[in-house]
Amino acid sequence: MKSKADYIGRFAPSPSGPLHFGSLIAALASYLDARAHHGQWLLRMEDLDPSREPPQAAGQILEALEAFGLHWDGPVLYQSSRLPAYRDALQRLQQEGLIYACDCTRQQIQGLGGVYDNRCRDRKDVPQDCALRVKVADRTIHFKDEIQGATQQQLLRECGDFVLLRKDGLFAYQLAVVVDDAFQNISCIVRGSDLLDSTPRQIYLQQCLGFETPQFAHFPVAVNEDNQKLSKQHFAAPLDHKTPLPALLRALKFLGQPLSEELAEGDIASVLQWAIAHWDIQAVPKLANIRLESID
Ligand code: GLU
Repeated sequence: MKSKADYIGRFAPSPSGPLHFGSLIAALASYLDARAHHGQWLLRMEDLDPSREPPQAAGQILEALEAFGLHWDGPVLYQSSRLPAYRDALQRLQQEGLIYACDCTRQQIQGLGGVYDNRCRDRKDVPQDCALRVKVADRTIHFKDEIQGATQQQLLRECGDFVLLRKDGLFAYQLAVVVDDAFQNISCIVRGSDLLDSTPRQIYLQQCLGFETPQFAHFPVAVNEDNQKLSKQHFAAPLDHKTPLPALLRALKFLGQPLSEELAEGDIASVLQWAIAHWDIQAVPKLANIRLESID
């Protein structure tokens, strides 16, 4: 267990659009947990897929974080500047004999129920236009999530070998996130439960690459009335930077944190100070998602 002073947390948005209420919750939860542990809170822009990233989005996210008083430590790390590190990690796995090429299509894998059956593992011919997958081990990955409790996944049966380099030549999220969490010495990852399912893959990669496994805490994600995660794709409204207090209070309520009447009279700085002092991760609901209208 790390001591409090060693705590390093992070917020790692993909700049596919401006910050919305769903991503504010992610920023706030990771910020409060870091600050309540007197730790650092780092910011990493996960900008690996230019086709999904409007050029102004990263700047808009930084502006929104400033407007909400969520000040990060140190320089922002841009994943687009980290390609050599991902290449090195991939090469190390390749040298271990853990990587192979695969040209299966998304439809083929959907036809398998979403779990890849590793059919390209032992192919003798090397396909063209292929993705690179990592071989998973036939074992169960266990971890204790700070919010969701004991969690496990049998990678071979429930996931299969997974992609580290996409067919289009882009590094996959799973590889980049593991390399950068290790590079930034992240000790605790606080993020939405939509990524709970990715965590065993990430722990597996950490083990393969000899990295330490951080602690994890997955809070419920905000969904709309159709149970869709709030996202740019689902037209989540952008945040109001001029009057940030109501959204901040609503995000604290979403996270199950105690609120007091006087907070509505305060300002962003005083509310954040109060929220850090009263942060209780055990009060965050142990749910996969929460409908937004249920908290108003
Ligand atoms: N970039 C990912 C997202 O915006 C989050 C990555 C993570 O927290 O591990 O959904």
